[in-house]
Amino acid sequence: MFANVIIANRGEIACRVIRTARRLGMRAIAIHTPADRGALFTRLADEVHEIGEGANGYLDGEAIIALARRVGAECLHPGYGFLSENAEFAEACGRANIVFVGPSPGAMRAMGLKNSAKTLMQKAGVPVVPGYHGDNQNPKFLREKAYEIGYPVLIKAIAGGGGRGMRRVDAHMEFDAQLESAMREAQAAFGDGRVLIEKYVASPRHIELQVFADAHGNCVHLYERDCSLQRRHQKVVEECPAPGLPEETRAAMAKAATGAALAAGYVGAGTVEFIADASRGLGPADFFFLEMNTRLQVEHPVTEAVTGLDLVEWQFRVAAGERLPLAQDEIGCEGAAIEARVYAEDPEHNFLPSPGRILAMSLHGEEGIKGIRVDTGFAAGDSVTPFYDAMIAKLIVHAPTRADALASVNKELDDAVVIGPKTNLAFLRALMRSPEVAEGAFDTGFIDAHLARLGAAPHAPDSRAVLAAAQRLLARRDALRPSPLAPFDPWGVADSFELVGARRLGLDVTIDGRPERLHVIGAGQHALEAAGGPAPPAADRPEISLFETADGAYAFAGGRQAFVALIDPLERAAGGPEEGDGGVRAPMNGRIVSLAVEEGETVEAGQRLAVVEAMKMEHALTAPFAGVVADLVANIGDQVEMGERIMRVQAAGEAEGPP
Ligand code: ADP
Ligand code: ADP
Ligand code: MG
Repeated sequence: MFANVIIANRGEIACRVIRTARRLGMRAIAIHTPADRGALFTRLADEVHEIGEGANGYLDGEAIIALARRVGAECLHPGYGFLSENAEFAEACGRANIVFVGPSPGAMRAMGLKNSAKTLMQKAGVPVVPGYHGDNQNPKFLREKAYEIGYPVLIKAIAGGGGRGMRRVDAHMEFDAQLESAMREAQAAFGDGRVLIEKYVASPRHIELQVFADAHGNCVHLYERDCSLQRRHQKVVEECPAPGLPEETRAAMAKAATGAALAAGYVGAGTVEFIADASRGLGPADFFFLEMNTRLQVEHPVTEAVTGLDLVEWQFRVAAGERLPLAQDEIGCEGAAIEARVYAEDPEHNFLPSPGRILAMSLHGEEGIKGIRVDTGFAAGDSVTPFYDAMIAKLIVHAPTRADALASVNKELDDAVVIGPKTNLAFLRALMRSPEVAEGAFDTGFIDAHLARLGAAPHAPDSRAVLAAAQRLLARRDALRPSPLAPFDPWGVADSFELVGARRLGLDVTIDGRPERLHVIGAGQHALEAAGGPAPPAADRPEISLFETADGAYAFAGGRQAFVALIDPLERAAGGPEEGDGGVRAPMNGRIVSLAVEEGETVEAGQRLAVVEAMKMEHALTAPFAGVVADLVANIGDQVEMGERIMRVQAAGEAEGPP
């Protein structure tokens, strides 16, 4: 075995490789970019070296190999992504006498492009998706081919990966435009604009086989992973066994997968991806080869759970020239495993990445509960940067049956807390509770077809959580400065009918930066009430976690967070920064006892405009800047609510409306 390993990757997969390297007694050498200074994997490694500038170092093969030589690395683990499927890089490692933990450059090349891989598989008798994967890239010719294949078709970049450079075309007249945009994207992403055309499988299920081969001619499979829960052709949830997969089809896929690996002269860990047609019952004649990924997959923990094996250990052993540790009939598949990918992204806004500092994070696997595993590259306090993949963690569960595994993943998702960046936790909760998922009645189009139902559309924050945060903030403010609104105990009285007709005071807050008014209900005790209506039924009341910052508090419940801040009425009356509009507002609920100005009157900055009386105190309202009084809506004696605008000061020179 090797004495050390240099890891040419980052994040959770670097952490993952370090763990096994250590267990095998190897020294773990990490590299990191300046953008990853202090990241968790650099804290776990035995030795760390900074490379490159900014965020780009992980793609600089030459610099990585030079460093590996300098530090005396015996082998290099590429993780996934980055240089893991780069045959030139693997070759350069070989020239530098560093063992590349992965297949030979030849096997990577054979499988690297989707078109040549399909040709090779066809020769080996592996079924491939019907379509055109030849060299002719003439747009007219490709359009003819699409017509012959029959719509819908899929245009795919032959160098593609991660779902990029792929376009579904449903009608002949759309073909040219889609082809052009697929080629453009492929050229930009992979430096290769060539495409192939495939029949779009009607009800596609993505089922892939993990294979492993050694340099002594042995090749085994480690069962399948169903990765059909995808969003825009990118995996979100993976599981083993594939629900509803007939044993006969499973055996046929296993045979095709090992056949594919042998045909490519494969050594090491690889994944053979198939697309199966669920509309035809996943029969043994209804699956087709998609591509082979010549590396460790993101979702490999699912396989580790059901087989009880450490795939990274196997990678090291095979790279060191050892034989596969087990023969096919010694490899079992126990129970069911599910992995859910937790991302820093905002499902309510088109899944935009949501980088930022992780203020709090609790994912239970860290405590080492049996059957629950969390692979992450982050700890609380770390930042998700915009430079890399926004995946925060992989939550993996293992249980005796699929139903148990689903129950377990749902419980873990319910208990998970991540505060700071927005995450897809609520989306994952909704997804994993879908009846279709429970029944195994889904295909790769399921998520995209049900986005709104899965909560992936803008909707109001959890009102109970918002109120809990507001209450906490009021308590904090009251501790600093006594307030007429204290004490607050919203939950003590929330269900009480005595509140009907109670005195209501407005409380102005911002929720995720948007101004909102909550209502403080006074009835002996005080309660807060959201603008948004009654609280949800008790059965669907997820636990609330609060995290206070200097400016406000995060309220987290059911996988979603909202940031709540109090609008300080006193600051605002004094012309705080939010008063750019010149609005003059009531600092608290009270009564206007005097008005010193009239509509249209010219005023100086700081000039007294009105007096509001509340709690036997008078508060003077003054002009935030010089200008003219406009929109004066109040009269002497009027009751006003906290934050209510009484008038506006229009700055001198501010544009008037049309005459
Ligand atoms: P990538 O290299 O981007 O992973 P793949 O060829 O593996 O590309 O395809 C990615 C995903 O696209 C698949 O998991 C599947 O959801 C979908 N897909 C690919 N080919 C087809 C097809 N012929 N019919 C239907 N869906 C497909
Ligand atoms: P798989 O086909 O293994 O399921 P994906 O295609 O989703 O997985 O994952 C590979 C992608 O992960 C790469 O294309 C890259 O964008 C991203 N990636 C690469 N390295 C890392 C890393 N260290 N941490 C997070 N994401 C990464
Ligand atoms: Mg793929």
